[in-house]
Amino acid sequence: MCEESLLTQIISWIYLAICFLIPLIYLFLYHKAKGRKNYKKAFLIAFIMFVLLFSIKLIVRVDVKGFECPNCFLNNICPQEDDIENNDNDDVNNEGDIIDNTENTTTSSTTTTTTTTTTTKRTTNPAEKTYEKIAEPTGEKIEVGKTSKGYTIYQIDGVTYIDGYLIANKTYGLPEDFVPKNTYASSENRTNTCNTCINNTAYDAWQDMKADATAVGLNIYISSGYRPYQTQKTIYERYVRQDGKEEADTYSARPGHSEHQSGECFDLNSITDAFANTDEGKWVNQNAYKYGFIIRYPQGKTDETGYKYESWHLRYVGTELAYKLYNNGDWITMEDYFGITSEYQN
Ligand SMILES: [Zn+2]
Repeated sequence: MCEESLLTQIISWIYLAICFLIPLIYLFLYHKAKGRKNYKKAFLIAFIMFVLLFSIKLIVRVDVKGFECPNCFLNNICPQEDDIENNDNDDVNNEGDIIDNTENTTTSSTTTTTTTTTTTKRTTNPAEKTYEKIAEPTGEKIEVGKTSKGYTIYQIDGVTYIDGYLIANKTYGLPEDFVPKNTYASSENRTNTCNTCINNTAYDAWQDMKADATAVGLNIYISSGYRPYQTQKTIYERYVRQDGKEEADTYSARPGHSEHQSGECFDLNSITDAFANTDEGKWVNQNAYKYGFIIRYPQGKTDETGYKYESWHLRYVGTELAYKLYNNGDWITMEDYFGITSEYQN
């Protein structure tokens, strides 16, 4: 399911009401004009009207710019990055990753999605290629402490870094006004999730990884990329209203604490536990590090990361660190590697 905007939801409900209202109005007018004569036929016509109207709701995909999730417009189904057939968007309660899908303004206005498999076979062997880490922004470095493993923790414009890597977890938040620079699509003035507002260095690596996955017959796509502070705030507050703060904290990141605000990570395919056992999930787990990506919240490391296992959430760090964290498949977390915590302060 999509992260629907209020407007999208209202439109969806209004349309549903119309599906019922039009046949009812027809019956009312029929009754006024002809009384009970041929009533069965009138009911049948009303029923067909309803079915047709409702089918439109199910089928029509409207790509309206400005809608958080274009396909949510009538039918609450989001397009995925490349408008793929794989539409099993479950509504899972997971960490910072809930039910958020995408604005992908350029995609999808078709109903049936035929994936054109343009197999862009790369010639580069990823094992031989180095993917550099994201360049640190220029700006004054303010030292804020040392980690338990002796690394210096410092901030640049309020953003926490260790050894040149941006840190966003439950202990270290991002400023409210932080918007990532140098992204593939501009992340400025975004009010919704954006799947292509990913740091250019990370996005280049992603395109290589995607091409290689495609070449072996797999279909991976970004289902949730950059998420602005305000979007996370809306999501989090909704869960707090629903389940209370304590419960919400177990599955939703607080605003400023979601790594998705960094533009250096994204979720793949369906954001469900099932992803890990799909061919795509297995391939990603075994190959993402070759392109500089890590499984940010590995299995069995909740105590370190503060989050459950998320096989779909990839963070770009570049190959140098990714190879170390991959650790022959026994993933090491950033928290463990640098010697930091991931816990809310209050
Ligand atoms: Zn995520």
